[in-house]
Amino acid sequence: MPSEVHSGACLCGGVQFTALGPLRPVIACHCTQCRKQSGHVWAATSVPATHLHMQKMETLRWYSATDHARRGFCSGCGAFLFWRATGSPDISIAAGALEGPTGLTIAEDWYLDDAGDYYTTPRLADEVQGACLCGANRFTVPHAMGPVWACHCTQCRKTSGHYSASFDAEAITWHARASATHTGPNGGVREFCLTCGSGLTFTKEGVTSVEAGVCENPTGGHLYAHVFVGEKGDYYQIADGLPQSLADDIATEGTQA
Ligand SMILES: [Zn+2]
Ligand SMILES: [Zn+2]
Ligand SMILES: [Zn+2]
Repeated sequence: MPSEVHSGACLCGGVQFTALGPLRPVIACHCTQCRKQSGHVWAATSVPATHLHMQKMETLRWYSATDHARRGFCSGCGAFLFWRATGSPDISIAAGALEGPTGLTIAEDWYLDDAGDYYTTPRLADEVQGACLCGANRFTVPHAMGPVWACHCTQCRKTSGHYSASFDAEAITWHARASATHTGPNGGVREFCLTCGSGLTFTKEGVTSVEAGVCENPTGGHLYAHVFVGEKGDYYQIADGLPQSLADDIATEGTQA
């Protein structure tokens, strides 16, 4: 009997793969390392590494933050795709990179103590400090994070591995910058670290937003709304009661729609 086959890819298509099921239920990881690389929360399934077959991997790079694991990302678009513990027979695969439907559900949340305050327990801040996982990119935003948008669109799914969370920055002061960019099909430019793949910013039509997950607590931010929810993965529900939109037409607080 043939096993189920799931295909997946990064946003730019430089990394394409198939995974032979059954797939492990999804774990959402809130640890600082996964937050920085994904830009919010990383959601992953897992298979024995022998069940993962690469169709294309010319842009795949690996980064190790510790001796315990290595993290695979696409150097063409910054998508955070794989995680493998040292010596483990299994490899974790970003759930958001899989073509749907996956038939999966989120079974557990890990490392909630490391979670961003902007989606757990909002705290005040006068400025936002951020850095990618490897530290090659460091920046300051001179105001609190404010409202944070969760974007469930296909592009954000592929690059973040789950869905993205970002806020509009009036200004960004870079203290270190060693990044690359990828221009998406709709003209948006995503900036990410070339060494560790952490998502940094997204610029479209002159507005630059910053990935919330690369920022340090306290952020002064709070999750505000979910956009492009029609494109979300099938393996999670949005149940926090915040406004949802099929597009990105939800007004920010204090402005008119
Ligand atoms: Zn890519
Ligand atoms: Zn980095
Ligand atoms: Zn998006």
